Amino acid sequence: MTESDIKIPEDFFLRMKGTLQSAFPDFLKSLKETSPISIRQNQYKNFSIEGESVPWCKTGRHLKTRPVFTLDPALHAGAYYVQEASSMFLEQAIKQLDLDKKPIRVLDLCAAPGGKSTHLAGLLHEDSLLVSNEVIRTRASILDENLTKWGVGNVVITNNDPRDFENLTGFFDVIVVDAPCSGEGLFRKDHEAMTEWSVNNVQLSAKRQQRILTDVWPALRSDGILIYSTCTYNSLENEENMQWLTEQHKLESINLNIESEWGIEEVKHKNIIGYRFYPHHVVGEGFFLSVVQKQESIEPVSINKKVAPTLPAKKIQEQLSHWVIDPDHYTFHQHNDLISLFRKSLATDHLFLYRKLHIVNSGTAVATLKGDKLIPEHAMALSTRLNRERFQTAELNKTDALNFLRKENIHLTGHTKGYLLVTNQNLPLGWLNVLDNRSNNLYPKTWRIRMGNSPV
Ligand code: SAM
Repeated sequence: MTESDIKIPEDFFLRMKGTLQSAFPDFLKSLKETSPISIRQNQYKNFSIEGESVPWCKTGRHLKTRPVFTLDPALHAGAYYVQEASSMFLEQAIKQLDLDKKPIRVLDLCAAPGGKSTHLAGLLHEDSLLVSNEVIRTRASILDENLTKWGVGNVVITNNDPRDFENLTGFFDVIVVDAPCSGEGLFRKDHEAMTEWSVNNVQLSAKRQQRILTDVWPALRSDGILIYSTCTYNSLENEENMQWLTEQHKLESINLNIESEWGIEEVKHKNIIGYRFYPHHVVGEGFFLSVVQKQESIEPVSINKKVAPTLPAKKIQEQLSHWVIDPDHYTFHQHNDLISLFRKSLATDHLFLYRKLHIVNSGTAVATLKGDKLIPEHAMALSTRLNRERFQTAELNKTDALNFLRKENIHLTGHTKGYLLVTNQNLPLGWLNVLDNRSNNLYPKTWRIRMGNSPV
């Protein structure tokens, strides 16, 4: 963003000047700088990216320059996620409260496009369940795409209003509310956020956040943890909203340890502790996070533990179990022609949620049954559970990999008829169905990249 592009709303300017005082010129200067670029690596995919570490996130890296991400096959393979660094602080809440040490149920309520959900999916215990929800249908599809690429299967993707979670009383151990907000922290990254900002919009956002919190609160179990975050600076949408919650419900604010060199501001407001990120103090955008623990006792919704997955025929199960790493910990579930994979310990939860929520995706889609033939699903190619030894593989160069991702025809020789896993830099990208004289590219149509090789 150039200086001449910046039209900071006057009310925002005056408020920040009053809040930051002598630090205000540094803040203003940072708004005129180019946004830093950062990514978070997928620890389950064998791939690493060089860059300076993000101090509060083990897999976070700052990049020196912005690559054309769309033209990097590794992004489409789910090897990393492009995410603003301040948001990666979520990891500290999870790790410092030992939420990664035991099997738990987590709801990410406002999840699209999937930054926090992909992060959580990688961090949580292997027997934990993540329900990743997005209220807007089109955004739920993007969330589904990003989580499928990430390849961690203990996830249920839902498309529900926060109100719909009220019949899941006490079901979740942790709820993450990364709330829709006035977006002040994104001003330098996103000009639109600046033009849409007004004092009135801040107030409307704060009220909407209160409604969201009220709607989802019953779904948190006794002693459960709520992680609330926004990408805005104003106290109304942040610590004041958390304080408002303490006045509606019994809860306790939770303290996190931060290193002074991280540059994060600890915010204390009445009973609330929060963490604020300013772009002149951190290599990242504006962000706020606060953690509270529920201090109310609540009767959890009862789950019928006897409900069992619909298993495919024995022969099919045997065949499919060779496709999966560590099959003893997993079960298949057949719905119409689609066979999915659930972690055994989570099968009841997956099936229970089908009756309660609008499910976009649940577990990992493994294969579709056509007659007695099994057609591998794209999600399985990208799954961290895929047993690659079971399939013939072809490593594509970057040009062919991008053509594959554009869903163009790929000509390969020397492979036997059947399904072939294509890779680039040893990362699976998807399936080709090799026929006698040609092959069919099975890359999902709606995901195909449309950018040519030399973007201008
Ligand atoms: N957590 C996401 C991430 O890390 O990638 C970003 C979430 S974004 C800040 C907020 C999300 O809340 C958006 O996807 C938006 O569609 C959704 N949203 C908008 N209005 C909502 C509402 N009334 N209730 C719940 N979610 C809402």
